[in-house]
Amino acid sequence: MRLDRLLANMGYGSRREIQMLARNGRILLDGAPVEDAEKRIALSPDLAARMVVDSEPLDPIPGMALLLHKPLGVTCSHKEAGPLVYGLLPPRWRRRDPAISTIGRLDKETSGLLLLTDDGALLHRVISPKNHVPKRYVVTLDRPLAGTEAAIFAAGTLMLDGEDKPLLPAEMEVLSPTEATITLTEGRYHQVRRMFAAVGNHVVALHRDRMGGLGLGDLEPGAFRLLGPEDLALVL
Ligand code: URA
Repeated sequence: MRLDRLLANMGYGSRREIQMLARNGRILLDGAPVEDAEKRIALSPDLAARMVVDSEPLDPIPGMALLLHKPLGVTCSHKEAGPLVYGLLPPRWRRRDPAISTIGRLDKETSGLLLLTDDGALLHRVISPKNHVPKRYVVTLDRPLAGTEAAIFAAGTLMLDGEDKPLLPAEMEVLSPTEATITLTEGRYHQVRRMFAAVGNHVVALHRDRMGGLGLGDLEPGAFRLLGPEDLALVL
C-alpha cells in the first residue's frame, strides 16, 4: 500500500499532510527517512517496530485487535447516551479507516473485558454463534441466592421474557450468598441481568473477567493493550 494512503487511513492527516511529513524527513523506515510519500509499503506485522513518525513508533497497523478494561459509565453504542468507549483510545486511533469497533458489547453499567478491532472478518469470527466462546461474568446480587439458580441455568430450558427460544445452558459458581460467576456461550440483550430477574433476583453489579482463555490480567479500568495472535487464539 502507498505510504500516504496507509498513514492517512491510520489518522495521521490528509495525504497532503503526509506528503509534507515525508518531505520534512519526519517519517523513518529502518532508521532512514522516507521522502517519497508514494512509496509502496508492505503491511507486514513488524512495520510498527520499523517505522517512526514524528519521533514516535507507528501506531498498530490495520488488522489490529485490542483488549480494553471497560470502566463503568461508558457506552459501546452511539445509540446510548453518555461517553463512548472509543473516547478511551488515543484521538488519532479514532480517526482510522477502517474504524475500530467493539467485538460485541457490554452495557453501560457493566465493567470488564471488552475486545475491539478494525478487522471485520475477525469481529465476525469471534462473535459468530459457531465460535461459542465462553464469557465469564462476576455478578453481585441484591438478595441472597436461593440455591436453585445453578441448576436452573445449567438446564438449558430457561425462557427469557419476550423470547421464543430457551437459553443455552450456562454455568454458575457461587462465590458468596450474594455473589456468583456465570459463564455464557451466547450473548443476548442484557442476558445476565434478565437471567437473574427471571429467578426473582436483581443484579446490582456486573463485571466480565474472561472471554475464552483470555483474562484482564492487571489492566486498570480504562486501560487497554494490543493483542497478538497468541491472545486471539484464546478467543477463537
Ligand atoms: N449481560 C448483561 O446483562 N449485560 C452485559 O453487559 C453483558 C451480559
